[in-house]
Amino acid sequence: MIKELLEYDISKLIGILWDCNPEIHAILKSEDTLQNARNKIFDYLNSIERHLYNIYSYKSFKDINLLEKNNSKECIRIFKNIITTENETISNFSPLQIIYSTAKGKTGTNNLTKGFLMEFIFLFRGINCNSGMYMEKDVPIFLKLTGIEAAKERMKSLDQYASNMERGMRRYKTGHDKELIKERAENKKFIMNLFNADEKDWQDYKWHLTNIIKDIDALKSVVVLSPDEQKGLECAKKHRIPFQITPHYLSLFDRENTGKYDCAIRAQVLPGENYCLNYIQSKESGADLDFMDEKSTSPIKGITRRYPQILILKPFDSCPQICVYCQRNWEITDIKDAIFSRDTMTNAIKWINDNRLITEVLITGGDPLTLDDVSIDWILSEISGIEHVERIRIGTRVIVTMPQRITDELVEIFDKYHELGKRELSIVTHFEHPTEMTPDSLAAIKKIKRLGINLYNQQVFTYYNSRKYESCLLRKVLKKSGIDPYYTFNTKGKDETIDYRVPIARIEQEKKEEARFLPGLVRTDEAVFNVPRLGKSHLRAWQDHEVIMILQDGRRMYRFYPWESNYALVEPYNYVDVSIYDYLKRLNDDGEDVENYSTIWYYF
Ligand code: SF4
Repeated sequence: MIKELLEYDISKLIGILWDCNPEIHAILKSEDTLQNARNKIFDYLNSIERHLYNIYSYKSFKDINLLEKNNSKECIRIFKNIITTENETISNFSPLQIIYSTAKGKTGTNNLTKGFLMEFIFLFRGINCNSGMYMEKDVPIFLKLTGIEAAKERMKSLDQYASNMERGMRRYKTGHDKELIKERAENKKFIMNLFNADEKDWQDYKWHLTNIIKDIDALKSVVVLSPDEQKGLECAKKHRIPFQITPHYLSLFDRENTGKYDCAIRAQVLPGENYCLNYIQSKESGADLDFMDEKSTSPIKGITRRYPQILILKPFDSCPQICVYCQRNWEITDIKDAIFSRDTMTNAIKWINDNRLITEVLITGGDPLTLDDVSIDWILSEISGIEHVERIRIGTRVIVTMPQRITDELVEIFDKYHELGKRELSIVTHFEHPTEMTPDSLAAIKKIKRLGINLYNQQVFTYYNSRKYESCLLRKVLKKSGIDPYYTFNTKGKDETIDYRVPIARIEQEKKEEARFLPGLVRTDEAVFNVPRLGKSHLRAWQDHEVIMILQDGRRMYRFYPWESNYALVEPYNYVDVSIYDYLKRLNDDGEDVENYSTIWYYF
């Protein structure tokens, strides 16, 4: 059904749109001004709402199930939002004008896009209690039974959910897969030969830091690059956009580039041409790449603070491996150019010492574990000397990109500053995909866990880990390995990261329809949207965001109410998402069964 819709042309979609809601079509056709049409549509929506809230209403409404009615209420709320003059003014766009002219036959198909029409088709269906989400569903049999009979029936439905999830997850590999372990051992051997290194070198993180791959030819001598990857890397080189891959991370690639399992890994570190061109264009147009507006939340060099008790300390501006979509790409430099300044850190730590309300420090960057042991020891000891600091978090991806960094000496340093009852040290890492969890990463995690130090994961939800049950498998493998899933971030809405971005509706759908099947201790992550300057907004809190517009190309505009909105009159933040149509089309083109994503339209 979705697949067919994706392929229909505009005229066919217009016909479907009017079939979905003949009442709205009739109003649009008959009213002689846009304003009259707007008023009549509000009347029409109000009348439906009255029926939805009235159990003595017409039979046709009475028989509709509660879930469908709830969805209709939600669709009405959104539709009202997007036809208000207020939101038209904010977005400088009137979808009502477009559908009004289309109904009157006054506009050709030029003004219309498939993404826009699809949004309205599903909205109209939803308003009409015809979403299709509940049509073939019945009340589960176990609810009509009691005792052991009910329990037996319940087992069947729960088994069905669990086996669907198992089947879904089996499509992806973890780094513990036996074949993958073998293949990667071969890769490692190949890279060691090429670099004239031995096992001792490989186990030495300094060897990995010295041999970071930043050069296209070096990369090509290990892995096959597709023409697109090659183009992207050349573009990065031309515009001096840094890319860095540790030998360890390179050993996780599928060297032959068969597309079997390493799409997420390649996308993580190989900047595409689109990324580079958008990055340069944004820079040249003077656009601010600092999406989070760190400049306005940094009271002193090296510190960013967005919350009452915790702040970020940034001792180092590079990482052993650079993630293409990094939110701090405006500041992340080539590792050879990154500087660790004791003076800057001394001032920053003094600032923390002088602010007794700060109880937690997140040391991040860059990746602070790129620094040597002496520097890490010094930073931790200075912060630990501050009485009011109860927790130190270290934000690092070395567990994924260079697990050799977790040496016995380093964990001894950690141990010194992890004093339960006085101060906790914890690690926040960044696994993106289950294939990144290798035996080497697990060994590093075990070393840390032995000290009683907790590890958490922050995942960025990108196109490359957004397929059905893909992130469920990541959560499972993380939890089994001793890491608690902590945050799932919406990708930053920066132009250069467009290829990575996923509609907000998909994160919401994933949490509700996939992650929900996992035990509570496994699905511990919170899906968040980071509001520039103000910080995280929880996506499951429907009160904190709403769709206020559907733009001409089908992209939704959201209004976010920051976490602080119950305490202060903070300005809401308007955000334009990527279009659901484009996302589904891309999945479809990549061979994914888009019918499995059909309810995505009803997540707002
Ligand atoms: S590890 Fe973190 S800081 Fe480093 S490049 Fe990746 S996202 Fe950015």
